[in-house]
Amino acid sequence: MPRPLSATVHLDSMQHNLARVRACTPGAKVWGVVKANAYGHGLERGMRGFAGADGLALIETEGAVRLRELGWTGPLLLLEGVFEAADTALLDKYSINSAVHCVEQIAMLEQASFSRPIDVHLKMNTGMNRLGVRPDQFAQAWKRLRAIAAVREITLMTHFANADELEHPRLTVREQVRRFCKGADGIDGPRSLSNSGGVLHQAELAAELSNDWVRPGIMLYGGTPGGKPAAEFGLRPTMTLASEIIGVQDIVAGDTVGYGSRFEAAAPMRIGVVACGYADGYPRHAPHGTPVLVDGVRTVLVGRVSMDMMTVDLTGVAGARVGSKVVLWGAGLPVDEVADAAGTIGYELMCAVAPRVRMLEADLESHG
Ligand SMILES: *Cc1c(COP(=O)(O)O)cnc(C)c1O
Repeated sequence: MPRPLSATVHLDSMQHNLARVRACTPGAKVWGVVKANAYGHGLERGMRGFAGADGLALIETEGAVRLRELGWTGPLLLLEGVFEAADTALLDKYSINSAVHCVEQIAMLEQASFSRPIDVHLKMNTGMNRLGVRPDQFAQAWKRLRAIAAVREITLMTHFANADELEHPRLTVREQVRRFCKGADGIDGPRSLSNSGGVLHQAELAAELSNDWVRPGIMLYGGTPGGKPAAEFGLRPTMTLASEIIGVQDIVAGDTVGYGSRFEAAAPMRIGVVACGYADGYPRHAPHGTPVLVDGVRTVLVGRVSMDMMTVDLTGVAGARVGSKVVLWGAGLPVDEVADAAGTIGYELMCAVAPRVRMLEADLESHG
């Protein structure tokens, strides 16, 4: 029998969350972001879950090729563009759209030979200071791209640093949009600005934010980039990491649990051992108190997470025993809440699910 640990992907929730994106941004076309193995859900499942998206966007060139081989015929976008000149042949062969974020990439496109037209997203750095052309050099970059015969449509793109916090003290979405509009002044073309944070705040930003394309990732997977719980936006979990209790220990006051004996019982307790550890992608730094569900009852992690196991408090969970069902995150326990307790973000938890974890599929409704 395999270990009782599994990650169940809810394709129905992926479809539902895509519909939420459309409800937030009526009229905009949607890139379903499926980088990092569809945020840990599996690229092929990302393709099926977001079959209704207008295109799929990712970072990995080999992932884009695989999506074509899996039968995706819609638009594909490389969010960081090509990494070397040879990649331009893949753009041509597999009809992949590319972001262009620096003059080096423009030069690669100038020197490439294309057998068909190619669409690109020209990226502006409006304050994130990661990728993108500076606003004052944007028009010139655009002209160079425009002069390449094979380049058909040029979408104008930027990325927000703080879309989850509208009144961010250092750099607001509004300020980034202002810089974007200045840099793109007089340049025609579709615009692609919003990640999940932008989509979720579309209502408040209606005056500033006009998107022809949006690029949501985390909200499609039932998480939020920060702040409000996903359920408040009507988003549903798309991944349930679940396991079972494989051992029980009754301990007395003064007993300690696990490596480093970091947790000491103040009173008699029942400890449950869960088949899931850091080698499965569960964060080792998750502290005492991180929420866990056992037989649907909320309890907490105690002691250190080890490689293959973790220990939880069963004292208040009536009837818990070997074989009891455990949810680490997902149905009934938002991934963002677990991430928050562990000092990280839901993105990292879902992306980190290890290859040894069995991946299953089930509707959220029928799960558990
Ligand atoms: C990852 C990524 C997104 C999606 O971001 P979320 O916060 O997950 O919505 C959008 N655009 C670009 C360029 C990205 O790299």
